[in-house]
Amino acid sequence: MMMIDGSEGEGGGQMVRNSCALSLATGTPFRITHIRAKRSKPGLMRQHVTAVEAALAISGGECSGLAVGSSDLTFHPGKAQAGEYHFAVGTAGSTGLVLQTVLMPLLLADGPSRLVLEGGTHNILAPPFDFIERCFLPVINRMGPQVSARLMRHGFYPRGGGRIEVDIIPAPLSPITCAGRGELVEVSARAPYSGLPHDIAERMLARARKELSQWPEETFAVRKLPDDQGPGVILMLEARYAHAVEIVSAFGQLGVSAERLGKTAAARMRGFQECDAFAGPYLADQLILPFALAGGGVFTTVKPSQHLVTAIDIAQRFTGKPIRLTQQSDGSHLVSMG
Ligand code: AMP
Repeated sequence: MMMIDGSEGEGGGQMVRNSCALSLATGTPFRITHIRAKRSKPGLMRQHVTAVEAALAISGGECSGLAVGSSDLTFHPGKAQAGEYHFAVGTAGSTGLVLQTVLMPLLLADGPSRLVLEGGTHNILAPPFDFIERCFLPVINRMGPQVSARLMRHGFYPRGGGRIEVDIIPAPLSPITCAGRGELVEVSARAPYSGLPHDIAERMLARARKELSQWPEETFAVRKLPDDQGPGVILMLEARYAHAVEIVSAFGQLGVSAERLGKTAAARMRGFQECDAFAGPYLADQLILPFALAGGGVFTTVKPSQHLVTAIDIAQRFTGKPIRLTQQSDGSHLVSMG
């Protein structure tokens, strides 16, 4: 039984999700204590419970301590079964984070699967749908499997109510090399919103545009969604290169001005564009699961986040294979498996 102290490292929900995924992939049971001890509301939240329930549902595994607020969970994996699954996160918990939990195990199953996930699709502190579709899944598909995702309906925090559908055709994950990003192909700045005044989205976009003055004017676009998909707004700045895509997001938040959100997101995008690493800070931690399960491969990234360091630690423990993180002379960091 693998013992994990959930207060170590980054100390968030990702430790629970990645442990479930790796447990299913390797067949190793685990117990995690002090779950999310470093968060303001420690213990499992509704969306973490749904993620673990999803891991159980696809595998017939068993678990004790699974409840909202629980800080101690024991998980015995079953074998992931291909199939059609429907998971609803209840509140605006993130559909993307549930996908993170079950995708790798389903890639190892013996047939295609279809997932319908309901909840938040554009939530703060989680990968927005667009990020999953255009930054994360293309890398998975380069490794062998074929995974496609569709956004059926937006869901913003706190109301949720969004829906995504994912089709998964499994294949063994092959090690790949993602050293550089290649030439810049296209940029775009989009601000979909729903149930809020139009000018909030406009102001976010206008402020970002002021910072990204080299980006062509026609790439900046506000999009009004049907009112019943909100309230909510997100700014997504996307840079597509020959071999990599980065999306920097700013989530509309009460008490934070639209201008500040637009300016911060643009500064983060500028920072990414000034370096040559393949993966931005979020993609890097999300790539650890597939690369660790591929048992090889390398990618370059920006300054490592705590999420990345913790994801590496958990993956090494389940697979028993080393993952190295080394700084390169140009300032980027190389993550190499095996
Ligand atoms: P945790 O904070 O432990 O629940 O983990 C959050 C997960 O969401 C990590 O895998 C992050 O990489 C991912 N994430 C958070 N914010 C973003 C964002 N703006 N874009 C893409 N991924 C994100």
